[in-house]
Amino acid sequence: MQTNSSILSTALHNFEQSAKRLKLDSGIRQKIGQPKERIEINISPVMPSGKLAHVRCFIVRHHDALGPAKGGIRMTADVNLDDITGLAMEMTWKTSLIGVPFGGGKSGIQLDPSTVTPQEKEIIIRGFTRGASRHIGPEIYIPAPDMGTNENDMAHIRDCVSYSEGTSITKGCYVTGKPVIIGGIVGRSQATGKGVVYTALAMCNKLDLDIADMKVAIQGFGNVGAITAAEFAKYGAKTIAIADITGGIANPKGLDIDALQKHVKTKGSVNGFAGGQPIEKEKIFEIDCDILVPAAAGSQITLENVKKIKTRFIAEGANAPTTPEADCVLAERKIPVIPDILCNAGGVFVSYLEYTQETQREQMTLAEVEGRLETRMKQRFEDVHKLAEQKKLTMRQAAMDLAVSRVVEAVFARGLYP
Ligand code: NAD
Repeated sequence: MQTNSSILSTALHNFEQSAKRLKLDSGIRQKIGQPKERIEINISPVMPSGKLAHVRCFIVRHHDALGPAKGGIRMTADVNLDDITGLAMEMTWKTSLIGVPFGGGKSGIQLDPSTVTPQEKEIIIRGFTRGASRHIGPEIYIPAPDMGTNENDMAHIRDCVSYSEGTSITKGCYVTGKPVIIGGIVGRSQATGKGVVYTALAMCNKLDLDIADMKVAIQGFGNVGAITAAEFAKYGAKTIAIADITGGIANPKGLDIDALQKHVKTKGSVNGFAGGQPIEKEKIFEIDCDILVPAAAGSQITLENVKKIKTRFIAEGANAPTTPEADCVLAERKIPVIPDILCNAGGVFVSYLEYTQETQREQMTLAEVEGRLETRMKQRFEDVHKLAEQKKLTMRQAAMDLAVSRVVEAVFARGLYP
């Protein structure tokens, strides 16, 4: 597949390498390497001003041997169909690795959310839901939040579906990451960040490091970055630098994460935070730290900056933050990487709990959700780490091989005839 998307080329590279190691024949390689469906939907909802907004939207169902497609909705100005294809492919491996009965999907809405009012965003989300209604459903594709979308948007999706059916609830789970008050699950909005920290704790154990001594640098202070920083603080680890799209802030004694969250809530960015020194956002990858967490966009760790990284290990909160070339340099430099499909899989794991809770009209407690999340993240970390040690692979290679093998097994269990 030809592409200009660095996210898609990273996903294809990682898959091809794994397919070679697993000696998959070309038929199977093509069957599970190609997306099943790539859809572009154009919507033109009426804005409160009376003008029509023209918005391009994308949905990709990558593979569904293990179950219906699962993956978030990305809303950014430059998201495109190839990026969404790469992210959907990643979801196929992530759901497989973390062991939930889902395939991989993703959707995109090409719009910078900071340029619209909450009312305009709601209209666009509802327009997307109606325009994409044939492609969304509990047995087809179940969206969730990703960059630029949040639980309010998921609430509007649910409402839009149930309103169209003339009911208060939907027949099964159409979307995860909803507010708890309308069928969301407790702990979902913290799940990805908590999962990042559980895997980082497991890595500290392997490297014989005390979490309370760790200095952390994080790129991104949205859902994943902010929760990760807050969770690290609970274990005594200090977050010494954070960057967002507007700039960066550093404090060698540790940033006050609660105060920074309040600042970002009112000011919209980390800029101007009094509890640290401003830094250029690109310098986040040059901070001398113990744990580096990319938790923003894709393709951020590149050949340009990888040699300047000074950390003991990397925990990939973001999807596809490391280009394949930079990944090789990290391996040469013996900087371990907890790969995205493992590190940030806590969100999709708890989304699965939300899906089952809604399907069974059940209610889970926070203790149950957090207990299951911690156990699953740590188990899968062990599985990946063990295979990496046994076969002398990087953790990314081991994670990919485990994930791809399970999808192949499911394909053969189903049989190859239509
Ligand atoms: P978000 O929109 O809540 O936050 C994104 C953050 O990244 C913001 O602080 C933004 O300013 C910052 N950012 C964007 N581009 C940047 C750049 N070039 N330099 C510095 N900062 C930049 O998004 P999120 O939900 O936190 O997702 C972040 C990443 O984690 C994405 O890659 C997403 O795919 C991945 N992820 C999210 C979830 C989830 O549950 N939300 C689950 C798995 C993976």
